[in-house]
Amino acid sequence: MCPFCFASEPYYFHHGICRRCLPYRGASLEEKDQLCVLTQADLSIELTQAQIESAHQIIDHCFSTHVCVEAVCGAGKTEMCVPLIEHCLSRGLKIGWATPRKQIVIELSERLQTYFKDSKIVAVYGSNTEIVEGDLVVCTTHQIFRYHHYFDVLILDEPDAFPFKGNQLLQDLLRASLKGYCVFLSATFDNHQFINFGPIHKIYVNQRPSMEPLSVPIVTMSLWRMILELWFLRSEKVLLFVPTIQTATLFSKILQCRCITSKNEHAAQEIEQFRREQSGILVTTTVLERGVTFKDCFVVVYDAGHVVFDEASLTQISGRVRRGMNPKKGHCMFYVKERSKVVDACINRIQKANGAGYASQG
Ligand SMILES: [Zn+2]
Repeated sequence: MCPFCFASEPYYFHHGICRRCLPYRGASLEEKDQLCVLTQADLSIELTQAQIESAHQIIDHCFSTHVCVEAVCGAGKTEMCVPLIEHCLSRGLKIGWATPRKQIVIELSERLQTYFKDSKIVAVYGSNTEIVEGDLVVCTTHQIFRYHHYFDVLILDEPDAFPFKGNQLLQDLLRASLKGYCVFLSATFDNHQFINFGPIHKIYVNQRPSMEPLSVPIVTMSLWRMILELWFLRSEKVLLFVPTIQTATLFSKILQCRCITSKNEHAAQEIEQFRREQSGILVTTTVLERGVTFKDCFVVVYDAGHVVFDEASLTQISGRVRRGMNPKKGHCMFYVKERSKVVDACINRIQKANGAGYASQG
């Protein structure tokens, strides 16, 4: 078996060398002793009782087994992990944060730096790999190969997102980066994904810090109803999700509004500008389904039954509304061309989470 990526299939090996992970080798860091620095997080918000309980549960378990935190969208997953980061940094343990999306790496590393002002937080992604070592590494799952047998604890945020989901090599390299255990975070887990990881302790958080239930999407089969909705919301902030880049470009021309897709090079600036505006429509694809928060925004999904939207992505998209501590407004509408099983499953999942309504341990 390859010690680097755990491949065992004979066709990967040539003269005893594993070809599967060859391009990823040679860049791995050497192990160094980490200094223990008394670290205290500077959180500008207070954690709720449910968040504190979950935070303690994570610390109680993640040094003896993998942990999976299934928390509804907007439950404050990042903040729940702050005590764990504090715990690791002040004991000289190597902790990392990996997530499939570059955009989330950028936003998250900035946010964590405001919580840990005295620590060196490094963001590592495709075009940003000059500095790869720090007190806390925040990286894309594509960069994890640099950290062979490195992390005492690795937080893996949104493992059900593209391009990590379904990529066996990335999952194996991630497993190889661990000295200890992994903490998986998501609102929308796919339980089959972690079979190779062994036993996992599950923690559920079904409540947002605002104590508000999740907003259940309104489903319509009338395109006119959707257009009318956009007209009603003309003085609000609206995220309009569409299935393809072509549709996004077309809609942004018709509606004369901003558009963010994976082809957009200045996405971060566009997001920032949209955040500052009082109202307007932002047309986007699944690229913005997770990790972004716009205060008091509304969500409309065009063609929610399209194959690019799965249950997880629709749940994440509908989770963009009524986030934060004191949301004032916001709801979500799905326009479907015909009845869709995936849309039904998403609504079921949200109603179930609302019914559970409190943090529980599994
Ligand atoms: Zn290998």
